[in-house]
Amino acid sequence: MAYTSLYRRYRPDTFRDVIGQDHVVRTLVNQIKSGNIGHAYLFTGTRGTGKTSVAKIFSRAVNCLAPEDGSPCGKCEVCMELALSGNFDILEIDAASNNSVDQIRELTDKINFPPTAGKYKVYIIDEVHMLSKSAHNALLKTLEEPPEHAIFILATTEVHAIPATILSRCMRFDFRLVPLAKIADRLKFIFDDNGVKYSEQAVRMIASAGQGSVRDALSIADMCVSYCSGDITYEGVLEVLGTSDPVKLVALAEDILACNVEGALSKISAMCDLGKSMAVLASDLATLFRNALYVKNCGDAAELLALPNELYAALKELSSRYDQSRLLAAMRRMTEMEGEFRYSTQHRILLEAAVIAAATEPRAEHGGDTRELEQKVAAIAKRVNALSRSGFEPAPAAKDAGQVWGNVASELQRMGVGVLAIAAAEAKAEEHEDALVVKVSSESAMRILSDPANRKLLSEAAVKYTAKPLRIEEVRRIEENKVIPYLTGMFGKSLEIT
Ligand SMILES: [Zn+2]
Repeated sequence: MAYTSLYRRYRPDTFRDVIGQDHVVRTLVNQIKSGNIGHAYLFTGTRGTGKTSVAKIFSRAVNCLAPEDGSPCGKCEVCMELALSGNFDILEIDAASNNSVDQIRELTDKINFPPTAGKYKVYIIDEVHMLSKSAHNALLKTLEEPPEHAIFILATTEVHAIPATILSRCMRFDFRLVPLAKIADRLKFIFDDNGVKYSEQAVRMIASAGQGSVRDALSIADMCVSYCSGDITYEGVLEVLGTSDPVKLVALAEDILACNVEGALSKISAMCDLGKSMAVLASDLATLFRNALYVKNCGDAAELLALPNELYAALKELSSRYDQSRLLAAMRRMTEMEGEFRYSTQHRILLEAAVIAAATEPRAEHGGDTRELEQKVAAIAKRVNALSRSGFEPAPAAKDAGQVWGNVASELQRMGVGVLAIAAAEAKAEEHEDALVVKVSSESAMRILSDPANRKLLSEAAVKYTAKPLRIEEVRRIEENKVIPYLTGMFGKSLEIT
């Protein structure tokens, strides 16, 4: 049986199962109950917050013969009909790949045909900001005078890119990032449902890595399930995420704040030896300082950040010993550097320079003579920039495929699609004549990288570093149980395998 991702398997079927969007759900449920249905809706919000899921539930609910508390009953004639994939009443269109005016015309021409199963014909247009200008105009015409039986649900992650003429025709719903505690509860429910064991700390780590997106959290959970084979530990999750152990990270932050340059550099060196990505480390540090600021300023930070208890306690302790401006300056240094990574391949030197700068800042404030040190830092930064601009970063064609792919992974991290960045970091790249071939050896990374929406983001990130198209290939690992017969075949039965 083909594996279905947790995200698909646990996609909500009713409004009750939608998490973290109570304000949206309440309004839509009231509309269903009162029969006060609009013709055009706009769902906006970050990826993975439930826009498409809610759109699908709403499309079935408006047609259901006996809605239960505003949700589709799933049992009536119409619900059964609409559950079939070939139904003509609920049409989902991805504007990213169907963005021409002809495609929108074809769609709007058909709109005059009445629905076949229920009362309404619902068009869900995903990524609606991707439509061309003329396609937007064609859509606008239909939105101005829609037939009685038509409902449009437009979904977008980039509401600022939607023309005002369209916005003004739609009822707008803003989907929020889902609070970490709610994602954690959902994960626990799903793990329990599947007989997967887990530690509280591990679940919180996964939830926090989802960064408010249920979809991303579930994709990471998927990877953790296959990586940890049924028993999800905190260490396992850290491995999958490739992120630094928060305890070590707090120690590094402590060195920076305490102006212990030597200690900070030796910790970075140790993490580098472990193969940690410097880009990820920089972003982890920035997040840590940000969290410390939250803990210092907000009474409900524990709830807000949903951090593991030990980490919360460590941050509380850390932030009590340093003042606001110190923490803020350190955070700023780390965030600024994330931007610089884009133009350089020398991530480690950049990180070290920024850490030295952050660690020596307070001495400058207190009037100490730091000019010499500052000059050194400036010189390092200058050298790094010169290296990146000169022959060090040649034309993309001559660049090493691994390097290109590393940059793509960092770019994804910057774009905020953590889960894709993780999957990308797992893969290896090879330069071929016609394409950059991405070799993936884990099933979960393959699923993430070949998801159509993710492929699009991947191409967006890759186009900055290579002119070639990407080709994703799955590399089959030799399974262990096949290796042993092979070896015994070679060496005979006398071979002892321990
Ligand atoms: Zn029904």
